[in-house]
Amino acid sequence: MLADDPTLTPIAGCTDVLVGLHFGTLDKRRFIDLWPLDDLRGIRLVQDKPKGLSPHARTGGDKPSGLSIRIGALATFTDIIKSALVQRRVPMLVAAAREVGGAQIQNRGTLGGNIANASPAGDTLPVLSAANARIVLRSASGERVVPFNDFYTGYRTSVRQPSELIAAIEIPPIDGRQWWRKVGTRRAQAISKVMMAGVRGPEVRVAIGSVAPTVLHASAAAAVLSRGGSIADAQAALRSEIAPIDDIRSTGDYRRQVAENLLAVFWKETR
Ligand SMILES: Cc1cc2nc3c(=O)[nH]c(=O)nc-3n(C[C@H](O)[C@H](O)[C@H](O)COP(=O)(O)OP(=O)(O)OC[C@H]3O[C@@H](n4cnc5c(N)ncnc54)[C@H](O)[C@@H]3O)c2cc1C
Repeated sequence: MLADDPTLTPIAGCTDVLVGLHFGTLDKRRFIDLWPLDDLRGIRLVQDKPKGLSPHARTGGDKPSGLSIRIGALATFTDIIKSALVQRRVPMLVAAAREVGGAQIQNRGTLGGNIANASPAGDTLPVLSAANARIVLRSASGERVVPFNDFYTGYRTSVRQPSELIAAIEIPPIDGRQWWRKVGTRRAQAISKVMMAGVRGPEVRVAIGSVAPTVLHASAAAAVLSRGGSIADAQAALRSEIAPIDDIRSTGDYRRQVAENLLAVFWKETR
């Protein structure tokens, strides 16, 4: 149906689309309901081999090694919270899912919707960035796999074509201690002011939300920490990487300070 008419808007849990319709910010009026597509559900282990048609698939992502966890795009936050597999392999994703909205939103909102909605404040996005996840895109003409860190091209834009659906998210094995923190006016039902995910292993990885037009993989700050630099140097590197703005939820200055503080807390708590 999307191949025939790429102007159709897919809906999954509809928790973002409904808000757009309610506030008149979405002008779309024709939708395609993904909810009954069980093929886009399920959380399982798959052989960790990036496959696909994209040049990204051959050049980006992790080296094939072991098993990746594959999370169907229609997995809800509740599915993620309850999954023993995600709890074991990607606890930072469970921590982020627990802080999305309230129970109603967790029961209905999906991981695919959070990614496709492409808000810089999407709570799962820093986790997927720090996890070096891959996005499986599917259309009538085939499937391609894109490294999550190559997916967004700017504010609310991505490499996804209108005729493509997000089918699944694949997360390779993560070597290191995982960490997640959301800063908002309260823990749930409030959109984040700043949130950070980190992995502390042989390679340090840090990703931050709401400090740039898209989720930011803070590679300069992480590189300082990876080579044993001081937290002050890492914070200085972070300062040069982020570009937070003033908006209704916060000021740029506040976000900058919080981002630097979070980096120090990540480092301390994963010591
Ligand atoms: C009260 C409330 C609280 C919220 N709190 C939070 C929060 O704390 N943190 C947070 O991150 N978000 C929050 N949200 C936003 C929202 O719940 C999430 O972004 C959620 O993950 C969206 O998923 P969905 O399935 O409902 O998406 P939908 O609304 O169905 O779709 C969102 C967008 O994604 C597209 N889309 C959906 N699935 C696919 C797919 N498989 N392939 C291609 N395109 C697709 C749709 O076309 C649409 O553009 C909140 C929303 C509300 C209403």
